[in-house]
Amino acid sequence: MAYDVTLIPGDGTGPEISKATQRVLDATGVQFNWDVQEAGLAVLEKYGTVLPEQVLDSIRRNKVAIKGPLTTPVGKGFRSVNVALRKALDLYACVRPCKTYKGVRSRYTDIDLVIVRENTEDLYAGVEFFKDTPEAQELIAWIKEHNGATIRPDSAISIKPISTSGSDRVVRYAFEYARANGRRKVTAVHKANIMKATDGLFLATAQEVAKGFPDIEFDDRIVDNMCMQLVQKPEQYDVLVLPNLYGDIISDLGAGLIGGLGLAPGANIGTYAAVFEPTHGSAPQYAGQNKINPMAMMFSGVLMLNYLGEREAGKRLEQALADIIAEGKYVTYDMKPNRTDPAAGTSEVADAVIAKLAG
Ligand code: NAD
Repeated sequence: MAYDVTLIPGDGTGPEISKATQRVLDATGVQFNWDVQEAGLAVLEKYGTVLPEQVLDSIRRNKVAIKGPLTTPVGKGFRSVNVALRKALDLYACVRPCKTYKGVRSRYTDIDLVIVRENTEDLYAGVEFFKDTPEAQELIAWIKEHNGATIRPDSAISIKPISTSGSDRVVRYAFEYARANGRRKVTAVHKANIMKATDGLFLATAQEVAKGFPDIEFDDRIVDNMCMQLVQKPEQYDVLVLPNLYGDIISDLGAGLIGGLGLAPGANIGTYAAVFEPTHGSAPQYAGQNKINPMAMMFSGVLMLNYLGEREAGKRLEQALADIIAEGKYVTYDMKPNRTDPAAGTSEVADAVIAKLAG
């Protein structure tokens, strides 16, 4: 049976790592009908939008997608296509395993964490008011009247909504993931000492959900303390569940623990669809250079194979990647001891993985 899968190559270095990943997935022997869909800056002129409806339709139809990163302008311009995609498809849980493989250049060994990030609300809701707009001024006046707080008139405001339902489902997902994958503990991460309304609600909901999973240990950490603990004693943690913004930041911290962004995969899971993508962005400064590490996207492919129920193929691909890392020969510049050491290019890594898969 062939799986219909949407493939979004992305932009910047996205197309290079997507091609490499597509080749290794095909080499696993699992059959795919790739439904290639373009999104982002590349299609803005053609379709008048960075997220054309046919991309969403394709994912809704196929229910599974794998994507390369897409660039988002900083501070101005269009909103993130990645965030829009997660919201449009209600991909509420972003799962990012952080695991060290033998041979990676990391200060740590034996890291095995799973980060579950809420993906649809929090400061990523996209409800923002720019400085000096009538709406910002009105909101500042409204807040003064209803809350008593004085906000400086030259302020911009971003809204942070966190709901019981949104928190409940992501925490429940984290516990169910823990149970299904033989994990022992879930830690809820928050800043409820300061943001008592929003993070307080996230924590209270997590505590409530935890009661339904007596077989899984539960605790919580304040996010700043969590950062320090992860650097000092990561072995004490197992599955972390976090609101959107903290999840984004801690995901990169997790990537740093396991040897860098070039190795950190991700899965955006919803009730009706799943989109697999690396944690890293489009690294546009390296675009077209056949240079960056495709392994984060290839490991995302492993997650996709497992999601499709192709666990044996997932295991073989993970082992092939682990072997290539351990041998240290066909790895990209970011995995070499010195940036100037000769390194494999993106497509050579794919060639080496394919050769491993072939036995
Ligand atoms: P980035 O992840 O693209 O790159 C940060 C740095 O990490 C790079 O300069 C590079 O040194 C290193 N790096 C990243 N991926 C690597 C890889 N596969 N191999 C080797 N080194 C790698 O982050 P950024 O520079 O903050 O963002 C660039 C663009 O990507 C922005 O427009 C941002 O909005 C976007 N972005 C997209 C996604 C997504 O598509 N899901 C995620 C994060 C950022």
